[in-house]
Amino acid sequence: MTGLENIKIIGVIGSGTMGSGIVSACALKGFKVIVYDINDDALMKSKKNIVSGYNKLVEKGKLDRSDASTAENNILCVTDFAELAACDLVIEAAIENIDLKKQLFSRIEEITKESAIFATNTSSFSVTAISTALKNNRGRVVGMHFFNPANIMKLVEVVKGEFTTDDVLNTVTALAVKLGKVPVTCSDTPAFIVNRVARAFYGESLKIMGEENLTADVIDRIMKEEGGFAMGPFELMDLIGIDVNLSVTKSVYEAFFYDQKYKPSPIQQKMVESGLLGRKTKQGFYKY
Ligand code: NAD
Repeated sequence: MTGLENIKIIGVIGSGTMGSGIVSACALKGFKVIVYDINDDALMKSKKNIVSGYNKLVEKGKLDRSDASTAENNILCVTDFAELAACDLVIEAAIENIDLKKQLFSRIEEITKESAIFATNTSSFSVTAISTALKNNRGRVVGMHFFNPANIMKLVEVVKGEFTTDDVLNTVTALAVKLGKVPVTCSDTPAFIVNRVARAFYGESLKIMGEENLTADVIDRIMKEEGGFAMGPFELMDLIGIDVNLSVTKSVYEAFFYDQKYKPSPIQQKMVESGLLGRKTKQGFYKY
């Protein structure tokens, strides 16, 4: 049986930028969260950041101390995949690699209960393609695409794959609402809605940087001051992660049969090769 009332334990795979925000939001709303990562350090860093985020809310008077401790106690960090067996719903937020995602979904199907739901936070891969990794339960795979930072941003794209059942779609939509989000149902098209539109925001900015010899801060300033954007394209790429952004661009480029308008920039490629990944490595287009 699906239905939000049956979702008590949420598993999150990957405790990086997105996994951390998702865990933070779910634990705060009373769900028990089991977060799995292959990297122990990433798990420890993630838990520390989540708790520090709760503490800041307490200091600002936006969260009771007791609610912050309850949320903290709701989070269990694990490096043993088998511990995800108890989950009613698993949200996958590991790196943007379709083979890895398929492998994770195939393994999760083996260990969870018959009614479990499997959501992917993929930015650009087909939910249907990921669901084909499952033997019997393709209908239980759905896209749940959060935005960065996932504990703050309201929008969640709920992606209906070819086989996703209405029950599953309705349950994750209700979950998004319970998390205080605004769910929008999307079809399973490359990069869904926001990331598809955003390809031009990043891609054209990178081209202008090269062609017009403009710096990141000038372009960002123009887009914010004159364009009315909350963040400029380069600040946003640094926040997202240059590696994550490049992976998404590459997969959209492939998905549209190498349409030149989605072509990745050599600037991004060089930055990834140099480990300049944005905020998470303390240097991207800006220094942090
Ligand atoms: P990230 O690099 O910050 O974190 C990825 C985490 O996955 C790391 O902690 C890593 O140790 C872990 N990981 C790697 N292999 C694993 C495995 N086999 N099992 C479990 N964990 C594993 O990446 P991110 O920015 O959090 O992105 C995660 C997913 O969310 C990607 O699919 C990405 O496209 C998507 N996404 C990212 C953003 C963004 O702004 N960064 C926004 C929306 C969606």
